[in-house]
Amino acid sequence: MSHVFPRHCKKPVPTAVRGEGCYLYDSTGKAYLDGSGGAAVSCLGHGDADVIAAIQQQVADLAFAHTGFLTSEPAEALADLLIEHAPKGIDRVYFVSGGSEATEAAIKLARQYFVEKGQPEKRHLIARRQSYHGNTLGALAAGGNEWRRQQFAPLLFDVHHIAPCYEYVLREESESAAAYGLRAAQELEDEILRLGPETVMAFMAEPVVGATLGAVPAVEGYFKRIREICDTYDVLLILDEVMCGMGRTGHLFACDADGIAPDILCIAKGLGAGYQPIGAMLCTGEIYETIKNGTGFFQHGHTYLGHPVAAAAGLAVVGKIVGDGLCDRARRQGEVLSKALHDQFGQHPHVGDIRGRGLFQGIEIVEDRETKTPFDPAKGYAAKIKTAAFDAGLICYPMAGTRDGRAGDHVLLAPPFIIEDNQIDELVGKLATALEQVIGADPA
Ligand code: PLP
Repeated sequence: MSHVFPRHCKKPVPTAVRGEGCYLYDSTGKAYLDGSGGAAVSCLGHGDADVIAAIQQQVADLAFAHTGFLTSEPAEALADLLIEHAPKGIDRVYFVSGGSEATEAAIKLARQYFVEKGQPEKRHLIARRQSYHGNTLGALAAGGNEWRRQQFAPLLFDVHHIAPCYEYVLREESESAAAYGLRAAQELEDEILRLGPETVMAFMAEPVVGATLGAVPAVEGYFKRIREICDTYDVLLILDEVMCGMGRTGHLFACDADGIAPDILCIAKGLGAGYQPIGAMLCTGEIYETIKNGTGFFQHGHTYLGHPVAAAAGLAVVGKIVGDGLCDRARRQGEVLSKALHDQFGQHPHVGDIRGRGLFQGIEIVEDRETKTPFDPAKGYAAKIKTAAFDAGLICYPMAGTRDGRAGDHVLLAPPFIIEDNQIDELVGKLATALEQVIGADPA
């Protein structure tokens, strides 16, 4: 009997024992094509010899050092590399162990920044509905996914939510994409004015929404307008690139495609590529200097922050992404994946939308393409697609539609950047089989 407490307690699942390239193998030897890199984590694929060697070397040299040593050689080198490529103004890196720690740290840093500036009344966070920023209580409060939040309410602090920039569902037919982007961004200004600008500290959003919507980028111009609004009202812009960052969208940082820079940036997942748990919160020099010249102490910290072995893994991963031109490769293979999805599902009666950037693609499943009506969530199609795909030897990341009926079930795809064309064909073929098994059998 297993003594592990898994998240899903009802059904036994196979045990993964080995990974190689784009495939994982279970204890019976069955192969699974990793079509989602876990949850957009395994950007380099499995068994990368360079990352393994970097980790082994670091464990041998120095596995852990904490009190008294606030940094280490690999942490310094990784921070330098990230800052070299970071959006304009971003100047400091605070290492953590994962995505939720990064978003928690971002919220606390925003709060402490305004307290240190003598503006403690600036305390409201605005985020977006249908978003996910992590599972710890602060990050859960920031997220706008009602299903995840409900059972923990009342949450630790009030966060105000506006609509996401979700063209497929929320753009009016008569409206251009540009006009829609401005209208969606206007919700932020309206909310800041409603709360009072002197009380709002930050706005948090994912440049490309991952888990909760399935690879939805904002329309062009949306984030430029968001940046202007944040500047106008002295509101910090926190971008959560935990899922969409580290080359996944074809840019090292997803916001590069939107032509803007945040004040605080969160990364994780692809930073360690699954080889080590590591995340980071990056911030501007202005924020860092404010704290340095104030109390001089960011009131935060976890035992494993900046862990040398995790930092060595991150350094090897980012070194490869940058050095081997993997952002370009993610962009190119993303085009191959997008085309294959359009060829396979472009006319599918229940695939309403195919979207994404780079190797971060999603399809949205609807009951009716014309009206974009989602299936009744009670049908549980997302979970069934996941199981059917898994049985067929494909790991993908389906997620149930939102319970308010605004979004359909969707499937998120985020394969390793090393994926080859024939593996993309295999991925799309297996996904088609899973959809056929689940939805093709729908009597409706
Ligand atoms: N932020 C985003 C956008 C995410 O997608 C996730 C995880 O899926 C998180 C934060 C939380 O990251 P972690 O699961 O590493 O805590």
